Amino acid sequence: MKKLFGVLALGTAVLGGALAIGVLRSVSHQIDVTPTMPIQIDVDAAAQRLSRAIRHRTVAPVDSASQPEFEHFRAFLTESFPALHKRLARETVNQHSLLYTWQGRKPKLKPILLMAHMDVVPVDPATEKSWTHGPFSGQVADGFIWGRGAMDDKVSVLGILEAVEQLLAAGFQPERTVYLAFGHDEEIGGNDGAAKIAASLAARNIQLEFVLDEGMNIFSGIINGVTAPVALIGVAEKGYLSVSLNADAAGGHSSTPPAETAIGSISRAIQRLDAAPFPGKLTGATRAMFEFIGPELAWGKKLALANLWLFEPLVIRELAKSPLTNALLRTTVAPTIFQAGVKDNVLPSQARAVINLRIMPGESTASALEHVRKAIDDPSIKLTPLAVRMEPSAVTATDSPSFELVARTIRRIAPDTIVAPSLLVAATDSRHYANLTKNVLRFLPITLTANDTKRFHGVDERISIADYLRCINFYAQVIRNSDM
Ligand SMILES: [Zn+2]
Repeated sequence: MKKLFGVLALGTAVLGGALAIGVLRSVSHQIDVTPTMPIQIDVDAAAQRLSRAIRHRTVAPVDSASQPEFEHFRAFLTESFPALHKRLARETVNQHSLLYTWQGRKPKLKPILLMAHMDVVPVDPATEKSWTHGPFSGQVADGFIWGRGAMDDKVSVLGILEAVEQLLAAGFQPERTVYLAFGHDEEIGGNDGAAKIAASLAARNIQLEFVLDEGMNIFSGIINGVTAPVALIGVAEKGYLSVSLNADAAGGHSSTPPAETAIGSISRAIQRLDAAPFPGKLTGATRAMFEFIGPELAWGKKLALANLWLFEPLVIRELAKSPLTNALLRTTVAPTIFQAGVKDNVLPSQARAVINLRIMPGESTASALEHVRKAIDDPSIKLTPLAVRMEPSAVTATDSPSFELVARTIRRIAPDTIVAPSLLVAATDSRHYANLTKNVLRFLPITLTANDTKRFHGVDERISIADYLRCINFYAQVIRNSDM
């Protein structure tokens, strides 16, 4: 007996030692930098230009109503950024998208590409009255610029142009060629805009050092246990697939129902899917995120993240409890449509459901469909993938110079933030550029609290003037630093 206790005590000591070593080994990934000087810019004039940009109702898709809006928007850009339009070459791609080329002095260096989209989502008429300022008013009030596109994504279009205009005024000339690519249909998939710009670059055999797109932001008070703001750089994005599940059955009178009905079959299929979730994993971009955030946590929390060899199952179980973090761990399945029946006393001969899947990098639409088929395990249910589908992206390496460049730039413009890579659960236009580079980074330095995230595509979209200046500064620094 005594011997057993002795062994146990030794075991505990060894384990304690190993855990402590884990914590000590978890060194910070944060880069030490000197903060940059704020950019020299006429703040009011810049805010007014973003305000005017918002007043153009560039709602995708481009139809007869929005066509003139896109034309006027292009004219507005030309007039607002005269130095840029004098120095950079501008091409109109597929009628409404824009590609600018700022020729670098060293053509042997791979170019960089900064991207954004000019289109916005429509405003739901039912919510229009709930806006503090009209959604297309571009009102500048209380330190904010208000309206559709203030966060998504006219802030980037205008922010990039302001940065280049300012760099030109300062006499800066890039060594690497800089491309600016502005799509016009991101909100409906980007097939007419970003995809066409990317195809045009591919036709010129251009390979890019990196692509920088919108995607993730600086989050304040959202991540449990972290008090400092966290800047998350999207290094990967999930794939997208919807599948229609159809069941046929003999219809007929509901007074003599058979054992198997169409509604019953579809219900069982959904229930089986709920009971067989995709496995949760701490891999790729998600694991990298915790590796970057872990060392910045207090000792107790650090203990678990620094010793994933032991605590991984526990950490996964904890993260799975919240929908937000669960989505970072696994391919998710959401039933989104359920249809059957027309009359209370008639058995429907058909029932249908649609499930929407968001697929983890490393998996594919084909493997996800296979999982669904196996989970449902019912050959009588017909599975039909819907037309819109996207494979998950590759994962940008966090030890690449491109990631390091963006991380360093964020630390310089926002020195109190923790920078970490992350997985984007939504889709961006950047996926159209996957063949042109392996370094795709998705980030914009807007500060968001939990309340602010619903402003995207929602009511009271707005950006603070301070954040907008930071965005301009960020783009200017990225361009400058990419020469080093
Ligand atoms: Zn967007």
